[in-house]
Amino acid sequence: MFPGDDDVERAVSELARMLPDALQPLARVAYDYRWSWSADGDAVFRAIDPDRWARCGANPLRLLTESHRATLERAAADEALTGRIGRLADELQRDRERPWRPGAASAHHPVAFCCAEFGVHGSLPIYSGGLGILAGDILKEASDMALPMVGIGLMYRTGYFHQRIDDSGYQHEYWLDADPDRLPCVRLTGADGRPRTLTVPVGDEDLVVQVWRVDVGRVPLYLLDTDRPENSAVGRWVSSRLYESSRPIRLAQYAVLGVGGARLLRALGIEPCVVHLNEGHPALAVCELLAQTRDDADADDDTAWQAVRHKLVFTTHTPVAAGNETYARDELLAMLGRVADLCGDRERLLAAGRVETAGRDPRYGLTALALRTSRHANGVSRRHGQVAREIWQPLFPGRAVEGVPIAHVTNGVHVPTWLRGPMRALLDRHLGPGWLDRADDPATWAPVAGIPAAELWAARCAARRELVQMIAGRAVGDRLRRGDPLDYARAGAEGFDPGRLTIGFARRLATYKRLHLVGLLPERAVALLGGERPAQFVFAGKAHPADDEAKEVVRRLFALKRAPAVAGRAAFLEDYDIALAGQLVAGCDVWVNLPRPPQEASGTSGMKSVLGGGLQLSVLDGWWAEAYDGANGWAIDGRVDPDPHAQDWRDAHTLFELLEQQVLPMFHERDADGIPQRWVATMRRSLMTNGPRFSARRMLREYAERVYVQG
Ligand SMILES: *Cc1c(COP(=O)(O)O)cnc(C)c1O
Repeated sequence: MFPGDDDVERAVSELARMLPDALQPLARVAYDYRWSWSADGDAVFRAIDPDRWARCGANPLRLLTESHRATLERAAADEALTGRIGRLADELQRDRERPWRPGAASAHHPVAFCCAEFGVHGSLPIYSGGLGILAGDILKEASDMALPMVGIGLMYRTGYFHQRIDDSGYQHEYWLDADPDRLPCVRLTGADGRPRTLTVPVGDEDLVVQVWRVDVGRVPLYLLDTDRPENSAVGRWVSSRLYESSRPIRLAQYAVLGVGGARLLRALGIEPCVVHLNEGHPALAVCELLAQTRDDADADDDTAWQAVRHKLVFTTHTPVAAGNETYARDELLAMLGRVADLCGDRERLLAAGRVETAGRDPRYGLTALALRTSRHANGVSRRHGQVAREIWQPLFPGRAVEGVPIAHVTNGVHVPTWLRGPMRALLDRHLGPGWLDRADDPATWAPVAGIPAAELWAARCAARRELVQMIAGRAVGDRLRRGDPLDYARAGAEGFDPGRLTIGFARRLATYKRLHLVGLLPERAVALLGGERPAQFVFAGKAHPADDEAKEVVRRLFALKRAPAVAGRAAFLEDYDIALAGQLVAGCDVWVNLPRPPQEASGTSGMKSVLGGGLQLSVLDGWWAEAYDGANGWAIDGRVDPDPHAQDWRDAHTLFELLEQQVLPMFHERDADGIPQRWVATMRRSLMTNGPRFSARRMLREYAERVYVQG
């Protein structure tokens, strides 16, 4: 169906040959991440060997190739298990056989979705946070909707960093090698059986790039990789780390992603109906697309720019400056001079990427380039659309803010990925067969109103119990490794209570996410943990390696750990990633989000928490500004205060007031059967109002029907 099928087939049969007969259907399952959102997928692999499954990071290829033969033989002899394997393999096969959805995209002209990171699964470490996970959710949803799409990204050899916190509360980073040969992906080969390569001009080197393919259901994700022996040592390094701290290397990555991506599509014979630039990082595709268009049609400059514009759509994901980096002319051209020349006229390219600097030396950025060269642009929530129009208005002189051509498509999350455990079982029981295929329709969620309170509450409590078990296991390990006293480490295992109100705060620790608000009023935080009806807190998140301010916030939070009651009621779990996020959003009763408005473009972890029956307590920014209806959670004022310091204090007070006076009392207000009726009613309302609206199905339909269609 898509280029690289032969390579996938070869890998599948090689793996199958190594397995006992009864396990052979798993070879194909292992090479397609579709299993990860199938109801039984994770459980099937886990059943083969739970310890090894955990040890190999839930990587099915590693599980099957690293397990002892005796383990595999034992699994093959387990008829119940082989029955499940058969059903799983059949489900995936039937899924692949569905016809493609008719529309602008077709199997011959798919959407090419380009992004610097993809968060598909914990075993594929090529993502850092929300942007990547959204991109992964989009590929999965495209597969579910049978919307023809291919993904274009980079294969990072050491991905994003891992996090350790030392006993002083300071964050340290380390990188692990993700050997692609042990990932469920294949390297594309040519007719001669050798790796297929292409080149990208970076600085004065022609970087040789090889290509990996990962299957995300029906969507192939092609990953470009410069770790080739033909390249210089620096050239090989280019695709090593996600968000590499060296600016020239980052520019080189953008060239590989953008120019390399467009060259790859051409080399594979894929003519996309639309090239979707997800964030500015892949925007240099413009240069190669211009070169291709001029070569094909012998077109003059204006015609070529028009033709390319017709193919490009762009989504901007953040109003924060760090996400919209700019470069000086010399800095840019040193790495990208030859890329700029692909356009035919480097000055014209520079003009398209220029940002307004009010008389100072000009600066150039990829967001500006993408905005000026795409036929459509959008932000990722209603409020972010407005904020983006204000920020980028200077690029469109003569236009009022309302006339700036940036629309919005509010983000959503892939429901089968994020709806887990007890809540998934409950909703599967009540919402009818095939409900996930109608997850964007409010009518699908209407039966939630009729689910007995006792059942909803039981599912909530079961999910919290699973979370508390996980916290116990992880907190002790984190603490022992850190060198904490034994009694403090033990309290991590014994102090958390499955019946206690559990509040989660987990996200990238960028300053604007304001984790520091929790520590602004330490007495009140500690009192909440130590009161007669205590709450318990779980935190997680990584600070960017160069962000000393964010690291200091974590350190100050750790300074509270010696206060009484804290050891067993608050935990910071190290190394926030997709797997940990899945467990946290499924288990927490309340999900807290405290961005400094208006900097949260959307936020998606709260949408995931909705699916687990979690309630939101959030600043009215990003998605929550359009989701909150007065009765489906709690809100903190989202207006922008020109004095950020005053706003911090006010919002910290509001946070604790809400927790003390509304959240805790509501959680403890029980009827004769021990059920908190008002709480359950709020859960129902949250599921019914937010579930359909913030699903990836709704989001991708909007992209398909409003954005891709004009291509
Ligand atoms: C969903 C997710 C995010 C994004 O969450 P926000 O609410 O946007 O902060 C970041 N990291 C991981 C691991 C996630 O799963």
